Amino acid sequence: MKTLVCTQPGQFEYISEEKPQLEKGHAIIKIKRIGICGTDLHAFEGTQPFFEYPRILGHELAGELIEFDGAPGFSVGEAVTFVPYFNCGHCIACRLGKPNCCSNIKVCGVHCNGGMREYLSVPSYSLVHGEGLSFDELALVEPLAIGAHGIRRAEVKEGEFVLVVGAGPIGLGTMEFARIAGAKVIAIDVNDNRLQFSKDKLKVEYVINALASDVLEQLSAITNGDMPTVVMDATGNLKAINNAFRYMSHGGRYVLIGLQKGDICFSHPEFHKREATLMSSRNAIRADFEHVIDAMKKMKVDPTTYITHRVVFENVKDEFEQWLHPANGVIKAMVEIA
Ligand SMILES: [Zn+2]
Ligand SMILES: [Zn+2]
Repeated sequence: MKTLVCTQPGQFEYISEEKPQLEKGHAIIKIKRIGICGTDLHAFEGTQPFFEYPRILGHELAGELIEFDGAPGFSVGEAVTFVPYFNCGHCIACRLGKPNCCSNIKVCGVHCNGGMREYLSVPSYSLVHGEGLSFDELALVEPLAIGAHGIRRAEVKEGEFVLVVGAGPIGLGTMEFARIAGAKVIAIDVNDNRLQFSKDKLKVEYVINALASDVLEQLSAITNGDMPTVVMDATGNLKAINNAFRYMSHGGRYVLIGLQKGDICFSHPEFHKREATLMSSRNAIRADFEHVIDAMKKMKVDPTTYITHRVVFENVKDEFEQWLHPANGVIKAMVEIA
């Protein structure tokens, strides 16, 4: 079978490998779709923290279940996706029911080899039923689950103002699940095209360009002087993260979905007087995957609007680099395998 390996930053190579053999407690998926995300782009650029090469990328995956052991309720030929965060099952996070932040986590395509290949063996416990969704939709469950998990962390209530900072794929998903939770959504980004996309495709009511001189005034006007009770970072940009502390209401929560390498810096008195809550949101849990699938089935989200670029597996090596350039307007590139 054909496999695409990221041999070192900036370098891809197709190799020919043996098909995986069925192991106990595992399932073999014939990969049909691979969504490309920021993690893959950063890994290719060499800017992903703690990344080792060579590595097979790909964690936003959908395919056909070929064979399996220990997956009751699944059937051969079924369209599936899976939760690509393999956890140890016994650390403190796992015992707390938080496998998404397992202290020994292996994220498929990050800490271990991923799905840029024709067949992939995954632990059977990670499988998720396709429920009649298309392969395109199933490959978009994981990136949307990241936003859904952030909204779960924030415990968003109906009628709240939720400010989502960053209108990239993760931010857009976060906006969708804030809206589904009944929030009034405000999007902020430095890129007007992305803000327009949020307005047109996601029907986000309020958008603000972060470079405007009066961001605080705009937020205050939208929220009747209250400021947003929930601020979600989906930028992973240190400056944006530090800035957004000021956007939070008194009593508010600030959830960091995006990740960056530096130290966060904020004013303790400003934070204290708000009695603010700061939390991170890592990966997602199975319930988030199920929530996303349910939202897709009920047509509360149309994930296919995110797919701006398509390519067949054979051409990924040639086309990957251009997806790095913001000018190409990539929101989600989708790889198809026959
Ligand atoms: Zn991703
Ligand atoms: Zn664990």
